[in-house]
Amino acid sequence: MTDPESFRAETRTWLEANCPAEMREPARDESDMCWGGRNPAFKNPAQKQWMDAMASRGWTVPDWPKDYGGGGLSPAETKILGQEMARINARNPLYSFGISMLGPALLKYGSEEQKLHYLPQIARGEIRWCQGYSEPGAGSDLASLQTKCEDKGDHWLVNGQKVWTSYADKADWIFCLVRTDFQAPKHQGISFLLFDMASPGVSTRPILLISGYSPFCETFFDDVQVPKDQLVGTLNRGWDVAKYLLGHEREMISGMGLGGQGESLGAAFGEVLADDPLLRADIARFDVDQLAFRAMSEKFIDELKVGRAHPAQPSMMKYAGTELNKARHELVMAAGGSSALEWESDRSANGKKAREWLRTKANSIEGGTSEVQLGIIAKRILELPGA
Ligand SMILES: Cc1cc2nc3c(=O)[nH]c(=O)nc-3n(C[C@H](O)[C@H](O)[C@H](O)COP(=O)(O)OP(=O)(O)OC[C@H]3O[C@@H](n4cnc5c(N)ncnc54)[C@H](O)[C@@H]3O)c2cc1C
Repeated sequence: MTDPESFRAETRTWLEANCPAEMREPARDESDMCWGGRNPAFKNPAQKQWMDAMASRGWTVPDWPKDYGGGGLSPAETKILGQEMARINARNPLYSFGISMLGPALLKYGSEEQKLHYLPQIARGEIRWCQGYSEPGAGSDLASLQTKCEDKGDHWLVNGQKVWTSYADKADWIFCLVRTDFQAPKHQGISFLLFDMASPGVSTRPILLISGYSPFCETFFDDVQVPKDQLVGTLNRGWDVAKYLLGHEREMISGMGLGGQGESLGAAFGEVLADDPLLRADIARFDVDQLAFRAMSEKFIDELKVGRAHPAQPSMMKYAGTELNKARHELVMAAGGSSALEWESDRSANGKKAREWLRTKANSIEGGTSEVQLGIIAKRILELPGA
């Protein structure tokens, strides 16, 4: 590694020169978040300029190897980059399930050809991915999944249904769990497959959330033909890949506990709270919990990057981060009074609070429910008898 202080100075100079002013404020809504893809929707030229600039250095995935489109940075350099971005409030240049979920799984389980093919596309934001795990009869009990994948000699044939597939209607490709052996015990007959959502036989139907948004879909596969080389890892051992990826998904979701730049609710609602000592005490407690979560999160990420994290640690972080985010939005609603319930006005202004509050109800479901995370913590971290 280069000397940390020179790396910090160079990084600071580069960010100052390349991060457009519009990208130095927090994302306010979905349109401020750049997801890339074959048909990317850029809100303004600055969004594209920022994504391309970061991708050109491999800094959309700073700690991935350079051969796979990454920045080749050490854990310490990656941390410095994050600190320098936070210093100027630089926005995440690319939101991507490819980066947060599929990429780490490919780095561990993909063949060399798969890594060289898929990872640079992910790093450059060229392909938008969705996650085909849950099915109508397989959520918490994911290993019960029934999507059928048959070996037809020169291709795989996939039939079945997924549900709650986030952004399936916008995604270019899917990473999908399929059953390749119906006779084996349920965890041992699953494989991990990648395919193009534009393949004949793939269709999606959006599902409306209580918040009024529709970020996910039912996804149907009818005789979808998939090239043989798009299976990741070993046939019938996809459960290992699935579990590893879930750890990264839970780590990503836990980030919502940080609350963006970690603004203090007490500071945000200071004046409103003057006459309400009970609410003031609740908000003070929340701010302390948020600081504790931030410290725990930093320690966890440091341990993860050097391979010293307990494998079940993402469950702890996911549980804590999502419950904290739900608590934040309960307090925002309480402090906002009846005007926070406003629903019909522009979603990016007043109508936002109530919709965001309702959206957080899903935080402790997506990526595995809080009850399931507590079960994992009891069994694998606390090693409680009978858990
Ligand atoms: C916003 C959102 C986005 C999502 N995005 C995706 C996606 O992109 N791709 C994807 O594949 N899936 C996605 N999901 C699905 C998500 O992973 C599942 O909803 C989740 O795993 C729970 O499964 P389920 O809905 O079938 O509920 P169930 O498994 O039917 O659970 C129902 C209730 O029973 C409880 N329960 C079940 N088992 C246990 C147990 N062993 N111990 C204690 N309690 C238990 C649960 O905690 C829950 O309260 C998303 C979900 C949401 C809400």
